[in-house]
Amino acid sequence: MTTAETTKPARVRFAPSPTGYLHLGGLRTALFDWLYARHTDGQFILRIEDTDQKRYNPESLDDLMRGLRWLGLDWDEGPDIGGPYAPYIQSERKEIYAQYIDPLIESGHAYRCYCTPERLEAVREEQRQRNQPPGYDRHCRHLSPAEREALAAQNLPSVVRLAVPETGSTTFTDLIRGEISTDNRQLQDAVLVKSDGMPTYHFAVVVDDYLMKITHVLRGQEWLASAPLHKLLFDAFGWEAPVLVHLPIILDPSGKGKMSKRKVIVAGKEYLALVHEFMEAGYLPDALFNFLTNVGWSYDAEQEVFSREEAIDRFDLNDINPSPAALPYDKLDWLNGLYIRALTPAALKEAVIPFLGGAFNRTAAELRADQRLDHLIPLIQERIKRLDEAPQWLDWAFVDADAIRYDDLNLLLGKKLDADTSAQVLERGVDVLQTADPFTAAALQDSFRQLAEEMGIKAGSFFGPFRGALTGKQVSPPLFESMEALGREEVLRRMNNAIRILRQEVAASV
Ligand code: GLU
Repeated sequence: MTTAETTKPARVRFAPSPTGYLHLGGLRTALFDWLYARHTDGQFILRIEDTDQKRYNPESLDDLMRGLRWLGLDWDEGPDIGGPYAPYIQSERKEIYAQYIDPLIESGHAYRCYCTPERLEAVREEQRQRNQPPGYDRHCRHLSPAEREALAAQNLPSVVRLAVPETGSTTFTDLIRGEISTDNRQLQDAVLVKSDGMPTYHFAVVVDDYLMKITHVLRGQEWLASAPLHKLLFDAFGWEAPVLVHLPIILDPSGKGKMSKRKVIVAGKEYLALVHEFMEAGYLPDALFNFLTNVGWSYDAEQEVFSREEAIDRFDLNDINPSPAALPYDKLDWLNGLYIRALTPAALKEAVIPFLGGAFNRTAAELRADQRLDHLIPLIQERIKRLDEAPQWLDWAFVDADAIRYDDLNLLLGKKLDADTSAQVLERGVDVLQTADPFTAAALQDSFRQLAEEMGIKAGSFFGPFRGALTGKQVSPPLFESMEALGREEVLRRMNNAIRILRQEVAASV
């Protein structure tokens, strides 16, 4: 925290509904929550809002926690670790909410509604026919006490609704958007408690934000429309509402659609949306942290790369920009490349192992012990922007020599060299490889350059057949380092296989 500042420790919650996989928008909300909590030396609270049991997705809770942990957003209170206001899962707090509903009914701020689904549908149908906006007609709000008693005595299923004032307006302040007033006639008598006794989001969120002493609510812009109802509830209880900040929506790269649960294809390019997709693609948490921090807030007009500590120090709610913004994905790739290059080779090795294991059919332990990787990792460090690019740079090293088929013979031909000359190049190279001592990139490079000169062939053309023979690929990490990584014996096997194939070709064409 900057020293001149007098910010009080904030209690900030991230309150996702476990309805699907965590997406980038959700992660951005959590990140801003966390940054503000850390900036003020306050608490970051994870609360699960699962009152809509129909939309509950059992996998989402694990996915959510995994995503937050992966980005490094540790929570101080939450469903798994508890805390002074536990439980932190709303479906486990039913009895708590129940205590708050009767006082609201008694004070006239809420009422029981006995309307059946059939009646509600008939009302909606009528509204449709009259081209009126759909909504509850407040039938039960105007029941006489006698009618109410009679209905209660029948033990009929009922919900509890908020009695929105029929005139006037409701005003609240969003820290970055200013004062927002809504004509009360535009608000619905929203359901607060469903017929099974489960609260709705509106009711649970207000009770919990109050009970958990939340000081700041940062959430997506899509919740702006709910804020007047929440304000009415806070006022009805006589509670002070937390500071509200509705974060800007994130647009897809075309700037047209909202980026949420699905990856999108724009101009033939795929853009990821879910946090686990970013993990699987090999983005580093530090890079995504840096990237997302700058979505809707900006660290500095010039400095785009910053550490977590710098972000925490400077993060200020007042600087959040309310306008929607398209995600600059290219910047993420650029940042990820930077963060990859900043890793130590040992850390990069550890980070790529999960990506290589499946592709090369090896266990993490085998890869960890594999010394070839220690040589190869620094060679790809400059070349990859995502960790999932690593297998395509390294696969050749992990296959058996005989599995490289050289189906495209061009791979073995040096530029402007025919099959016979290319075979001769490799044969002379084999002599060098057999005797090189030490078998290091530097020594090999010297000897090969000398040999190319002796044979009167340009280095570029001369090296081509070796690269093809070694990797079976057009593009690979630097040749001599790759040779050193594989070791003399394996390199020779590959050279000899390639020579045999070239010689067969020469024989067949005479
Ligand atoms: N449970 C809501 C969600 O799924 C949270 C809204 C809020 O933060 O108030 O995003």
